[in-house]
Amino acid sequence: MLNLPPDFTFSQSNLQDFLECPRRFYLRHVRRLLWPNREMSGVTETTRRIEMGYTFHRLAQQKVLGISDDLLFKFIATQPLEFQEWWGNFLYWWDQALPNVLYGERYAETTLSCGLAGFRLIAKYDLLVIHPDNTVTIFDWKTIHPPVRVENFIHHVQTRVYPFVFSLAGTTLLNSQEITPQQITMIYWFTADPFKPQQLLYSSNQYQADENYLTHLITEISGRNGNDFPLTQNEKLCGHCVYRTYCDRQFVETSTENELDLTDNPPLQPPDDWEQISEIVY
Ligand code: SF4
Repeated sequence: MLNLPPDFTFSQSNLQDFLECPRRFYLRHVRRLLWPNREMSGVTETTRRIEMGYTFHRLAQQKVLGISDDLLFKFIATQPLEFQEWWGNFLYWWDQALPNVLYGERYAETTLSCGLAGFRLIAKYDLLVIHPDNTVTIFDWKTIHPPVRVENFIHHVQTRVYPFVFSLAGTTLLNSQEITPQQITMIYWFTADPFKPQQLLYSSNQYQADENYLTHLITEISGRNGNDFPLTQNEKLCGHCVYRTYCDRQFVETSTENELDLTDNPPLQPPDDWEQISEIVY
């Protein structure tokens, strides 16, 4: 019998793990098993890109908090050229977006949570902007290359979790005023394509669909027993998985670099705050 601890917290990250590979969810989030992955090919490049992604998120947070560009640039100048291009794109877009989608109260790296199906569901947002008319824009920075089309995101669990949690818990940022789903927009912004952010408008219908979907998913996971978390049948997903030797899938083909959102789903041993990050896109 699977016994999730009473304080077990669901997130878009662990839900996405379950959807991609139930075994990965079980090993990582239930057994909390750390596993070396020295055998992985391309680990150096993988690690480098993960670190770049984390650095970008950290610097974007500091930018939101008001740290001056001059101060940040001293660090940016020490980074690889690709990263400097990301940052240049970000700053250029930021200036263009300030009068519109960035206009309002800005909150970086903010976590909100709500109760659902007997558990906590959390969302950690790269950036929230509360506009003067009380509409809200949720930003998520993506360092994936190439950028992914919006169609690929519509049914992604992150796209469901983030606005859903804000609908229930975001009133704390709105002086306790009620918020309707129609007030919420989610934007995926890509370092590699800064002027084509993918925008998704939330709605009451989508909110209801997400509530049903997420309730069912959490109930399904928490109702399983420990032996009922099979290995994924999509072996491409094993290519960058930390458990590939544990699962005896160390010889599966590793996906090409540009198929991975390396920042958002660390294939290596995850850092403490890895819950903020999300997916591998195939
Ligand atoms: S190696 Fe493959 S089967 Fe094993 S946990 Fe990772 S993704 Fe799942």
